Amino acid sequence: MDRYFIYKQQVFETTMKLVGVDLIRISAGNISMRLPDGNIAITPSGISYDHMHPEDIVIMDINGKKIEGKYNPSSEKALHHEIYKSKPNTNAVIHTHSRYAIAFSTVTLELPVICLELLFVGGPIPIADYQCPGTIAVGTSAAAIFNDRPDLKGLILKNHGMVAIGENLEAAYQNAYNIETGAEIYHIALQTGKNPVALTETQIKEILAHYNKTK
Ligand SMILES: [Zn+2]
Repeated sequence: MDRYFIYKQQVFETTMKLVGVDLIRISAGNISMRLPDGNIAITPSGISYDHMHPEDIVIMDINGKKIEGKYNPSSEKALHHEIYKSKPNTNAVIHTHSRYAIAFSTVTLELPVICLELLFVGGPIPIADYQCPGTIAVGTSAAAIFNDRPDLKGLILKNHGMVAIGENLEAAYQNAYNIETGAEIYHIALQTGKNPVALTETQIKEILAHYNKTK
C-alpha cells in the first residue's frame, strides 16, 4: 500500500473541485499540500486535468526534489516550496490561471476590500511584481509578501495568475474561490463607470467582531 496515497487522493480531490468551479483549466495551475513528514504532495507537470488520476500526484521534498512519482512535479514547484519554507502554518498552496485575477494583474490594480469575499482573505489583494514563471524568484517574491502581511491569504502574480494559501486544502480552496469571486465582482462594478466603494475600517471592524462572536 502506498503510504502517500491518502494525501495524493486529497490533492486530487481538491484539484477536481477547482476544475468544477472553473478556477483551473486544461493543465494550467497547480495544487499542493504539506505532509506530516515534511514532504509535499503536488500536481504533476503538464498533465491535463481531464486525464489526471490520484496516483499521478507527485511527492517532493521541501527543496523540490522528487521523492516519488511517475511524472515530474509541477514546473511551478518553487512557488510552493518557497512558501512552505517561510510560512510554517501554511499547509496548502493553490495556484490558478483564473481570468479575473490575471486581468487585474495586467493593469496592476490590486483588489480593494469591496465585499466579504475579499475581506475574509485579508484583502486588499496585492499584485506581486512580475517574475518569470517557473523560477525560484516567483516563490521568494510571493513568500516575502505573505511574510509582510500575516493575515493575507492570497495574492496575484503580475501577468500570470493567482496564489492562495491555507492551513489545509479546504481553506486554500475557499480562499482561491473567494479571491476570484471578489475579482469578478470588482470587474462587474467597474463596468458601471462608477467608482466601487471599499468597506471602511469601521465597517470592517464591526463585521469581524460580529463574525468572531458567531463563529
Ligand atoms: Zn502559473
